Parts: sequence; structure tokens; C-alpha cells
Amino acid sequence: MPELPEVEAVRRRLQRDAVGARIVHSDVRRAGTIAPQEVNAFRASIEGARIIDARRRAKHLFLPLDNGVTLHMHLRMTGNVYVLPDCRFPPLRARLLFTLEDGRALTFDDPRCLGRVHAVATDDLAASLPPLGPEPLDGTFSLKTFVDIARKSQMPAKLFLMDQSKIAGLGNIYAAEALYEARIHPAAPTAALSTVRLGRLYSAIRQVLEVAIPCCERAYAKPGHFAEADEYPMAVYGREGLPCPRCRTLVARMAQGGRSTYFCPRCQRGVL
Ligand SMILES: [Zn+2]
Repeated sequence: MPELPEVEAVRRRLQRDAVGARIVHSDVRRAGTIAPQEVNAFRASIEGARIIDARRRAKHLFLPLDNGVTLHMHLRMTGNVYVLPDCRFPPLRARLLFTLEDGRALTFDDPRCLGRVHAVATDDLAASLPPLGPEPLDGTFSLKTFVDIARKSQMPAKLFLMDQSKIAGLGNIYAAEALYEARIHPAAPTAALSTVRLGRLYSAIRQVLEVAIPCCERAYAKPGHFAEADEYPMAVYGREGLPCPRCRTLVARMAQGGRSTYFCPRCQRGVL
């Protein structure tokens, strides 16, 4: 499932390929993708408008248009957004196809149909989003901010990191990798972590995301649906029974919040 690095990679590609283009026609091939919005109203609100920017907040993507409307996209499990060189040859799983003035097309490609796209008045956008914590790579996200948020949470560290209202953008993969880098057990109660450990976790979150973004940019270099960042050097995620890169202890898996959590029982010992 796309997390901050995957969505950021898609955003960067749209910044390069889509910003400046005018949408001349839109084809809603699956009404459920824009539900509960109605097809004709959706089309009328975007056709003729020019894409003026590509932005991201947490795992949400935004394409603001020059008519006061923003396309708000959420990729969910398998969604992807990219520009096709020729609008006459859309992919089979294009749920939305926006023909651009120069003959190219912007497509929302989504095999599992869980992704969503809505046309929202740009002024109402902030109010339409769920509560979101700070962006971990933003220059204003300080260690003090992180410690203040963590000190208030009784959640286990892994679930805390995945809670979008606390810290934005981390999911199952990069939360597990950040905890490994910081040598913190996934079940450790967040509020009880020492300041030293929280400092290590703060640095680990930023480091993991910064390494992952260019891996995702390479993975998304070709058209298609969600691409795993297969070049990212996973230390624990998906590696149950394989040796920890640091100490060679076998990576373990536990259930947490209905998902699998991977960790090294030796490097991430104890819960405090
Ligand atoms: Zn280890």
C-alpha cells in the first residue's frame, strides 16, 4: 500500500509531467472511483481547466486547477496516476482518463478499485481532510514537536507511528523499518520511551523516508499500478525468519492492530 514515499514519488512525476497541462475532456470509466460525486457535475467542474500544481499531504495527492477546483486523489492499495503519451491508448484498468490539450492523457489506473478521486473547491480542501499530524520531512517538524506528540500517546510505538492524526504518511512498512533503525520494540508504550529513544526514533523516521523516496521514484518510473519500492533495503519488513542485517538473529513477526509487524527480537529488545 502506498505510504508517504510512494505518494511523494507519484507527486514528483506529476509535477514534471502534468503541471501546466489543460484538461479538455474527462472520461469517468468507473463511477465508484468518484462516488459520491455525480459524473456530469464532476466532469463540468474540471473540463477546460489547467493543472497548476501537484501537492501532497500525508498520503493524499492534490492537483489544483486554475478554476478554483482541486482534484483530490487517494491511491489506497493499488492506485497510480500518470501521464500517457497518447490518449488513444489507455491502460485496461484506467478508472479515469483525462484527455489533455496536447493529445496526452492523465490516467487514474487502479486494478482493485479502492482508490478515490474527488473534485473539491480549493478553498474547502483543508476542511475536507481527516485530522493529520505533522509532515515528518517538513522543515518545521522538530524533535520537540515529535516528543510533545509522543509523550501524550499511550499507544504501542508501531500503532502510534501508523496513526495519521499523530504523524502523517507512515504505514506498515516504513513504521516497522523506522522502529528497527531506532532499536525500539514495536509494542513499547510510546509515552514511556526515554527522550534518547524518542530522539533516535525521530531521526530514524526521517532517514527511512529520505532513503525510500528515490527508491520509489525508480519503482514508479514506468506506467502501471502501485509499484513496490523493491530497491529499498528492507531490514525487517516482510523478512520473517531471515537474519537481521545487524546481528543475524532471525527476524520475528507479531500481530498488531490486525496487521503483521516485523522486528528483530535482539536489536529491538524489551519494551522500554
Ligand atoms: Zn538484530
